[in-house]
Amino acid sequence: MKRIYLDHAATTPTHPEVVEAMFPYFSDAFGNPSNPYSLGQEAKAAVEEARDKIAHLIGAQSEEIIFTSGGTEAINFAIKGVAYASQHKGNHIITTSIEHHAVLESCKFLERQGFKVTYLPVDKSGLVDPEEIKKAITNKTILISVMHANNEVGTIEPIVEIGKIAKEKEIYFHTDAVQTVGHIPVNVNEFEVDLLAMSAHKLYGPKGIGALYVRQGTRITPFMHGGGQERGRRASTENVPAIVGFGTAAEIAQREIGREVESLIPLRDKFIQGLFERIAQIHLNGHPWQRLPNNVNVSIEFVEGESLLISLDLEGIVASSGSACSSDALEPSHVLLALGLPGELARGSLRFSLGRGTTEEELDRVLEVLPRIVTRLRSISPLLKSKT
Ligand code: PLP
Repeated sequence: MKRIYLDHAATTPTHPEVVEAMFPYFSDAFGNPSNPYSLGQEAKAAVEEARDKIAHLIGAQSEEIIFTSGGTEAINFAIKGVAYASQHKGNHIITTSIEHHAVLESCKFLERQGFKVTYLPVDKSGLVDPEEIKKAITNKTILISVMHANNEVGTIEPIVEIGKIAKEKEIYFHTDAVQTVGHIPVNVNEFEVDLLAMSAHKLYGPKGIGALYVRQGTRITPFMHGGGQERGRRASTENVPAIVGFGTAAEIAQREIGREVESLIPLRDKFIQGLFERIAQIHLNGHPWQRLPNNVNVSIEFVEGESLLISLDLEGIVASSGSACSSDALEPSHVLLALGLPGELARGSLRFSLGRGTTEEELDRVLEVLPRIVTRLRSISPLLKSKT
């Protein structure tokens, strides 16, 4: 059975050109970029070339890119690094209730250190209101952190408006752009962001490598101390093969981005329409059009997302659910709850995230298989029985 992979928001397959570009840096060109001899300098040149490509993709200067071990580290660095560096000015941070755990947990950690955090609500489509951000600002606010697009429901936030507010009030602005860099246009100057987190494995690059964009002049306290790599801002020998892979993935994304957006939007919308035609009592989560071109998130009444996933997996279809299995309980996603979904609907959610290789035939197969699965699960559902 050929697998149909529809979980590109979780991770993407590494592009063959990326693998090919990385390969020499595991073997012949294995040097340490900090060494002055030619083997080291060759590795350093490769790192700098990758940095240029990533900077180019987001409209930044190369010196403003700091490599990290992934999106999570980039986010931790942005939030904690700015909080520590600005604590003489204030201790207040503004974020939203639908951020990735990397943001929420960094904020919770800072709260335990005495910082104050405002978690702004979102509307039922997942949008944060820039006016609410304005109202939440105090003379102690040092950082605003709002994600560019949500990883679960795909809603794209009004980043340009938020950037303007932050700039006007002279407050640092960070955005978690892990789901958008390489997929939709991202430009740090248009967004007026000071910090932007990204991750290679979401754009057909390798896992375990990411980067933080830090606008020149931004005060940030490093939390990896050691050698002076990354201009003293992130110590540790550079992961050269992964950095080269990230650079190549960024270069490919720059080339593909227009085509990806153009082809995915009609595929996504046709798929959503197909789901609504074939399945009763189904709801679209997230914003109807201000959403990622590859994101389809639905809640299906009277079924559990986890059961849907397992049944789809048996048919060779890979998707994701908004409910994460934690210990023995099925915890509904904090994002869906923040959108105001009742627990039952949050538990019955299913996310399909399309990719560059997704075809209409693959989606047609899902449209053929899923209604059958829903009918079967509903026929044995205690959720449905309790309603009748
Ligand atoms: N932020 C968002 C929106 C994400 O979707 C993810 C990954 O799922 C991360 C951050 C974390 O990135 P990484 O897996 O590179 O640590």
